[in-house]
Amino acid sequence: MDTATLNPLTEADIVGAVQAQAAESVALLKRLVAEPSLLGQETSAQVLMAGEFAALGLEVREFEIDENKLHGHPGYSPSIVSYQGRRNVVGLHRPAGPVRGRSLILNGHIDVVPVGAERLWSHPPFEPHIERRADGDRLYGRGAADMKAGIVAYTMALRALQRLGCEPAAPVTLQSVIEEECTGNGALACLLEGYTADAAVIPEPGQDVLSAQLGVMWVTLDVYGVPVHAAVAHTGIGAIEFAQHLVAELRRLEAKWNEPARRHSMYCGHEHPINFNLGRIEGGEWSSSVSTHCRVDLRLGFYPGRTPAEVRAEVEALIRAAHAAHPQRDSVTVEVSYHGFQAEGLVVDLQQPAMLALMQAHADITGRPCATRASTATTDVRFFHLYGHIPCTCYGPAGERIHGIDEWVSLPSLHEVTAVLALFIARWCGVNRRAA
Ligand SMILES: [Zn+2]
Repeated sequence: MDTATLNPLTEADIVGAVQAQAAESVALLKRLVAEPSLLGQETSAQVLMAGEFAALGLEVREFEIDENKLHGHPGYSPSIVSYQGRRNVVGLHRPAGPVRGRSLILNGHIDVVPVGAERLWSHPPFEPHIERRADGDRLYGRGAADMKAGIVAYTMALRALQRLGCEPAAPVTLQSVIEEECTGNGALACLLEGYTADAAVIPEPGQDVLSAQLGVMWVTLDVYGVPVHAAVAHTGIGAIEFAQHLVAELRRLEAKWNEPARRHSMYCGHEHPINFNLGRIEGGEWSSSVSTHCRVDLRLGFYPGRTPAEVRAEVEALIRAAHAAHPQRDSVTVEVSYHGFQAEGLVVDLQQPAMLALMQAHADITGRPCATRASTATTDVRFFHLYGHIPCTCYGPAGERIHGIDEWVSLPSLHEVTAVLALFIARWCGVNRRAA
């Protein structure tokens, strides 16, 4: 393949085009962050993205997720909200000129995580706010970094190439999917609709390349206790207290999996790779009754190479043992159920041509070598990698406090990543000169 003819654009051409449209990128990011695309509320943001894809001249397709098609797939996670009316948006570029390069999928998730206690935010989470700083301006808002800036980056990368009078010389699919944050079923639905490519990139936050990700599982425990009057509370068993006892047992399992000898090699040097998070608790009736019911929702991390089925078996054995060890076990009921993530971990082969080309584009645009990172979270990379056999990684605009309060994304990083993606597209797919 003659890369000189496939990609006549220089780094300076691309950086110049991205800089020229910097204000437009920020304006699009502000519009996207202002759409509160929480779970089940993605529609207005998806309408916006469908419009952006159409404005790029892409063939736009929107489709509702059909859960029946996902059931039984090893990557499926039980959903927690109905899919009725909730759509993925896909924009497909088919070259007008000859197809000469390799195809590509650029995927991003439109959903954002809950904002938490709004009183803790310095500015309302869906009112994007720019802070001018000597070390680089920041845009604040829920979803700014995770991952609306990433969606803006791939959209504007394609626009930059168009402004330079070029089009990718291979099919490029832009995907804006729902539900990355709790199941990944949006990305899975795209895969099962038949979207494939020679490589895929997800601009999740972090201007480094993803080398591995953990498995993630959501587990729900429902505990039913022995309710009595609070005056004789010592004769009952509070469901809340018993749930706390089970969570303490799970904490011991978390500590065990973090022991250096038990770690996956990709996580040897990590401070604390396995995290069991008690994300939600609901229980009890009022202060003067011993609680009858308590539900806890937990998120467990686990290493690549283990299946969700193995992890479920280990967790259930632990819960059974903790229950059996209790002196009044016969009076207490514990039910274990699974809603949300049942996601396997993975290791990315960074020696694959697409990964090397992405890291080279980063080095050529920024002048810095590209760092790699084994993530202690999950991403939609698993669908491409494990089930689509498509080389895939994450690389996107840097930001902080994702899933926290006052989430922000670095605007210089947004523009840098846009240029890196544009250069990567030009090299990976090649470019054709567009007819004037
Ligand atoms: Zn994300």
